[in-house]
Amino acid sequence: MKRGQLRTGSMEPLADHLAALTGSRDRELLDVTLVGALVDMLRPHTAMVHRIVGEAPDQRWILRARLVAGAGAAESDPLSVDLDDLPRLATQPERQTCLEQQRIIATEGPAWVTRFPMVSDSAAVGVFEIETDDPLSADQMRLVVSVLRIYRNFEELLDYSERDTLTGLLNRKTFDESFLRAAATATPGGATAPAEDRRAADASGPWLGVIDIDHFKRVNDEYGHLIGDEVLLLLGRLMRASFRFHDRLYRFGGEEFVVLLRCGDAHGAALAFERLRANVEKYALPRVGRVTVSVGFTAVRRGDSPSSAFERADRAVYHAKENGRNRVVHHEDLVQSGAAVDQSPSGDVELF
Ligand code: GH3
Ligand code: MG
Ligand code: MG
Repeated sequence: MKRGQLRTGSMEPLADHLAALTGSRDRELLDVTLVGALVDMLRPHTAMVHRIVGEAPDQRWILRARLVAGAGAAESDPLSVDLDDLPRLATQPERQTCLEQQRIIATEGPAWVTRFPMVSDSAAVGVFEIETDDPLSADQMRLVVSVLRIYRNFEELLDYSERDTLTGLLNRKTFDESFLRAAATATPGGATAPAEDRRAADASGPWLGVIDIDHFKRVNDEYGHLIGDEVLLLLGRLMRASFRFHDRLYRFGGEEFVVLLRCGDAHGAALAFERLRANVEKYALPRVGRVTVSVGFTAVRRGDSPSSAFERADRAVYHAKENGRNRVVHHEDLVQSGAAVDQSPSGDVELF
């Protein structure tokens, strides 16, 4: 069969592909599975998923999966890529129109490029793009649309189980898994390791931050729980605006917010948490006025457990509260200054 020529697979492979697609819980692999399935069914030159990241008006395209026919593996942008290094939406006008108007757009060039909008909970989240020698037939388009619809239903179910309904941030459920994955890339001994070890490690070493609203009980007491919930919602929004798109933001329940942050060093991590603190402080709510947050953070160490890292960050929050609130405290600074003792058993343990 000529490369790029189209053939629609039988129902059996389709069912198999759908089973594979909905059998995975690993978000990072979902788009790769989707692209693999559609390449197998339609045999195009190339199939890709581009998603949008960042907050309006500075949204960008990130390549989540690109599979070229005949190539073994899909490629994608690294998840830790800098937003500034990604192309703006307007650099791809057809793709942007497809996304914004939520309609299929096909153009002829060296190859036919057909773009399908990907939506989730009525918001446009990305574009599936396929390159073929000939225009897609109506049947083939229907096939892609159906697969994307199943994919969307599946994603919404995942979202429903993994996200907090009030803020849309992640809930506690996936934290341990993400934490352990992050801890596996950490420097042995984290930021307390000798400088040469630190340099050798992943330059985007992970950090764990715990965020607690100051005097939140007063907000509830004075204005009621509904207004209290609005403050929680706002904090979620400010967190999204203050951290990078690849940082993982959680609401564990109540007013407990947690961030798993990827950034080079303690100074960078402190700056990121400080940016959130300042953004919260300068935001004036219609009725409540200003609220502030206290933040504690710690380096995630190789072999760390989620609970011991959380405890360290929480101890730093406690210290922030004791020292006037509305501040960011780095747990390792407390240990160095003698204000806290490092009780974590994992500090010097090498597991690998
Ligand atoms: P501090 O500065 O020491 O943190 O004071 P605080 O009043 O914020 O104290 P703490 O963090 O212990 O208070 C937590 C309060 O958060 C208790 C409860 O009234 C409120 N809260 C917890 N979960 C929710 C929620 O889901 N919605 C609302 N509206 N309030 C909540
Ligand atoms: Mg609290
Ligand atoms: Mg509080």
